[in-house]
Amino acid sequence: MNFWFSPPHINIAFHAGNNTQKEVLENRQNSLKMDYTLENLAYLNQIHSSKIIKAKSGGFLGDGDGILIDKKGIVGMIMVADCNPILLFDCQKQVLVLIHGGRVGIEKGIVLEGLRMLKEKYQSSIENISVYVGASIRSCCYEVGEEVFRDESLLKGKIVKGDKIYLDLLEVLKEQLQEKGVQDKNITINPHCTCCSLEYFSYRRDKHCGRFGLFATL
Ligand SMILES: [Zn+2]
Repeated sequence: MNFWFSPPHINIAFHAGNNTQKEVLENRQNSLKMDYTLENLAYLNQIHSSKIIKAKSGGFLGDGDGILIDKKGIVGMIMVADCNPILLFDCQKQVLVLIHGGRVGIEKGIVLEGLRMLKEKYQSSIENISVYVGASIRSCCYEVGEEVFRDESLLKGKIVKGDKIYLDLLEVLKEQLQEKGVQDKNITINPHCTCCSLEYFSYRRDKHCGRFGLFATL
């Protein structure tokens, strides 16, 4: 299994930033490693859902926020700017799931859905599953309104500082993973906040920004 990120400030999304379609395709090609081409690249129209689609080949997979890959020759791509780029990998069954995990998707349980698919479709054992979370917006910059906590599923991440409320989505994510039995030693979290680390695209910092990508292949 291999995973990597596109270089900083290389926009790989058609729907964001201000690059032409040709430039985005070039950026995607330049973000690929080894001998992979755009033919190998599997990607989504991300809609903040809990839907995970199995990629049978490279190409556009439709609406969804997760890509499951169980064979070689396919490179999954998730586009982010503040949302969490998340990778689930079962080293024994050789299956991976790339996830676009924003607040809404995590609240809808997309990571839990990924774990469920690994368990039910591939008989994955939880101790063989490792989780990687890339740079994303962190509680230092993620001010939210009280309404975000209305249904209580994000309460674990609520931080009150004076009259402001911040969301630590990573705490919510860790709680979900721990409840399913994912071991702490198998969880790796990139320490960078996309909003205050200027090398990353950040939607909170700049609404017109591009997207960077998580890429993964078996
Ligand atoms: Zn920050």
